[in-house]
Amino acid sequence: MDNSQNNILSGIISNEPVDGSKAEKAIKIISELQNDMKNYTDQGAGPFLAAIYDDKGNLLAKTSNSVVNETCSHNHAEMNAIREVEKILGTYDLSKYNLSLYITAEPCMMCIGAIMWSGIKQVFYGIPTSTVEKITGFDEGFKPDWLTEFKKRGITVYGNIAPELGEKAMKKYIENGHKIYKPER
Ligand SMILES: [Zn+2]
Repeated sequence: MDNSQNNILSGIISNEPVDGSKAEKAIKIISELQNDMKNYTDQGAGPFLAAIYDDKGNLLAKTSNSVVNETCSHNHAEMNAIREVEKILGTYDLSKYNLSLYITAEPCMMCIGAIMWSGIKQVFYGIPTSTVEKITGFDEGFKPDWLTEFKKRGITVYGNIAPELGEKAMKKYIENGHKIYKPER
């Protein structure tokens, strides 16, 4: 591993020793998702995208958060992606397909549960929850040490991937006056 590669990978957190080629692939996919975000938020979608790939690198689903435009509080990007792929493959158990989920931000407490129940094998996310909450005021929920819990269940996680792009996309959502959808408390 040369120095420049080391720098790119140095901020990544993972529940396994970081594999350079997996991380580079994730940087590419998540960067594309972050750059594509505005096309979705301009249509009324929330500021999160998810994509699921099979182990041959085929894209099976690419979805946005659709809480506001579909008036459903659980339509987070990951939930929509998992639902779509389970429909395509005709199963509620994705484990035998060895699928990878790429998300623009760390999953919330609901989506962590949904990922666990789906049989997804690898999770790659962009900006961490702390960044999302700081910029937007969304409440992502209380979480266990989910990287450790996922490792126990054979699910690999890589996070903090291309965080600068993710921050920029999230700030743009706020600057453009889009909705922070959450229950009043
Ligand atoms: Zn979520």
